[in-house]
Amino acid sequence: MQAQIKLGRIFGIEIGLHYSWLIIALLIVLSLVGQFFATNPAWGAAIIWAVAIITGLLFFAAILLHELSHAAVAKARGLPVRLITLFALGGLALIEKEAADAKTEFWIGLVGPVTSILIGLICLSLAWALGWTPADLPRRPLPAMLVWLGYINIGLAIFNLIPGFPLDGGRVLRAIVWWITGDSARATRSAAWVGQFIAFGFIVLGLLRFFGGAGLGGLWLTLIGWFLLDAARVSYAQVEITQSLRDVRVREVMTQDCPVVDGNSNLQTFVDEHLLRTGRRCFVVEEQGHIVGLITPHEVKEVERARWPLTTLDKAMRPLNELHAVAPDTPVTEALEMMGREDVNQLPVVSGGRLAGIISRGHILQLLQTRAELHV
Ligand SMILES: [Zn+2]
Repeated sequence: MQAQIKLGRIFGIEIGLHYSWLIIALLIVLSLVGQFFATNPAWGAAIIWAVAIITGLLFFAAILLHELSHAAVAKARGLPVRLITLFALGGLALIEKEAADAKTEFWIGLVGPVTSILIGLICLSLAWALGWTPADLPRRPLPAMLVWLGYINIGLAIFNLIPGFPLDGGRVLRAIVWWITGDSARATRSAAWVGQFIAFGFIVLGLLRFFGGAGLGGLWLTLIGWFLLDAARVSYAQVEITQSLRDVRVREVMTQDCPVVDGNSNLQTFVDEHLLRTGRRCFVVEEQGHIVGLITPHEVKEVERARWPLTTLDKAMRPLNELHAVAPDTPVTEALEMMGREDVNQLPVVSGGRLAGIISRGHILQLLQTRAELHV
């Protein structure tokens, strides 16, 4: 899920919004406005709109807290978190590494719903302290806001506890199966299977309700089911990839015959004579017999076309000391994680202070494709 709007950073984690979130925010505000007009028309339009918008914003903050709690546990257990994206159906904390043990997986999964339940209970208690009782409708704006936030957060926690991967409950289920069987791959398969089963359930139930006359509410369920189905498949595929690459080392997939180009030649010559002729994408830049960096179409694009004849490769390249090198013995999965973190498509492989080769995403993908074709 790509975040299209960047909101800033919290504890070094980038917070982003996906466009779909704006649609849902609008729907939430509109439905709140409708609800308040029906229950408390005496407030007047200005107050109703203000309360609806503030409630919507606080709901957004509550989802963010939920995701931050996942991120905090992941970080405390040594797993890096780069990004939190908020989208139509909630949030997603991008944890860059698979949990190394079942216990970590369990706590990362559980802390989210626990946080949401706590937020919900705090909101309801505050409303109660302000004179609201569960039997009646809140009459004043502040309790009304708190009651809505209270119920929605508890609802969110219950939804997230559904034991299908990739929901939090699925993570917890995966951790439990992993703990009992000691087999993380089997645990993933079980959790993904349950996830797909539940997703189908949502889709069928949604369609039945839609055709039974429930209207958009039914379609909404179907949409959630569809999303869950897709997410379960994707998460499962990711884990399968990690599994199938588990024993592969960088040395087995790296390219050794990296084409070398001179750091003093200019970009125009490089593009004409190397990039467009050889079909290769990554070149090693050398100066006086020393390797100084890497250059790919990505770096070329950064320079304005008119300046290509005037720019030398050593100015445009990615210097070697800026790139994290991997060793030939590094597991490929670790190299992939590093590429994700650095946002690059290849890494230099260094052995004994010398460049031994280049490892690229393209090569790893080809390897996966071949393996899939041969069913090995
Ligand atoms: Zn969660």
